Amino acid sequence: MKPTNAIFSGYGTSIFEVMSQLAKDHGTINLGQGFPDTEGPEDIRRVAAEAVIAGPNQYPPMMGLPELRQAVADHDRRFYGLEWEWQRDVLITSGGGEALADCIFGLIDPGDEVVLIEPLYEMYLPLVRRAGGIPKMVRIEPPDWQLPRDALEAACGPQTKLILINTPHNPSGKVFDAYELEFIADLAKRYDAYVMCDEVFEHIVFDGRAHVPLASLPGMRERCVRIGSAGKIFSMTGWKVGFVVGAAEIIAPIAKAHQFITFTTPPNLQRAVAYGLGKGDAYYAGLSGDLQDKRDLLARGLALAGFDVLSSSGTYFLTVDIRSVGFNGDDVDFCREITTKAGVTALPVSALYQGADVSHFARFAFCKRDEALIEATERLVRYFAM
Ligand code: PMP
Repeated sequence: MKPTNAIFSGYGTSIFEVMSQLAKDHGTINLGQGFPDTEGPEDIRRVAAEAVIAGPNQYPPMMGLPELRQAVADHDRRFYGLEWEWQRDVLITSGGGEALADCIFGLIDPGDEVVLIEPLYEMYLPLVRRAGGIPKMVRIEPPDWQLPRDALEAACGPQTKLILINTPHNPSGKVFDAYELEFIADLAKRYDAYVMCDEVFEHIVFDGRAHVPLASLPGMRERCVRIGSAGKIFSMTGWKVGFVVGAAEIIAPIAKAHQFITFTTPPNLQRAVAYGLGKGDAYYAGLSGDLQDKRDLLARGLALAGFDVLSSSGTYFLTVDIRSVGFNGDDVDFCREITTKAGVTALPVSALYQGADVSHFARFAFCKRDEALIEATERLVRYFAM
């Protein structure tokens, strides 16, 4: 048989799957993968259910249902003061994941340099490589996840086509501050690069912070694409409804990629997301407030078990230093050990870096019912007290 595609074939089974399978085999509380263990807002699900019965159920427009594109434009005006023309600047996709693929395939040519900040959400690098992009890596590292400005500056140059940023950042929980965003914006302008802003956690920021899209900085509207995910905004990660917003000239080639990948997204889910985006401020405050309480609940429990818990300003995730409980192996050993022996699963952060030198940190997801978080931390307290 002839070889299959070398880039995708070269990747092993994802660490998420490996840990989740181990979690299943041992019947653990799985805090490794970031999805809520609840069903999401009932009113939004009802709109989706009714839309399936009432129809239409045929192909929606390639760019997305007009009512959803308008709702996304209204959302960006309401939260960020960003003005988009809904007919041309907004594209609906089958999840933030498809949006990532569309942007990467729509913007880069083989040989273009793409600047990526590790630790990486796992889709970025395979897609950049498959598109023929040349990855230029910069890393932020625990415990403080500072952006190394010299390294970022050194990674950028005239060949830089695209800078990919993720804020709020999975897995670190870092929210890039105004100075960091300005620094990135200056580099993008200096080298005439596009910036792909993965902002799927835009509404999950804590402690009174406000999410600031890079596209809202002066001169950045023309070169940024902003990616969002209804799965994250409505705690229904299986829905796979996403969006990309940006200037029409950049959205046009991205829409071509979308046209050749999925073409469209289920119409009932689009209708329900359009309804959901119009929810009042109390909904959005409740989303981040509830998750902030869960972050604090898990952080307290992990501290009780003896962990140094790193701060998390957004997302679903908290990171701990595994050396603080006297664990001498690496993070992969640690996650295996707590899965098989303590009945709790976490994710080794080293899996999200190229190269294994950041190997003492584990990521726990707190987007779970309080009972699960309490039970998980009680198990860890018992295990590490032994
Ligand atoms: N980007 C990041 C940083 C994510 O964490 C996720 C989902 N885990 C996605 C993109 C993909 O979003 P979706 O589930 O809407 O495809």
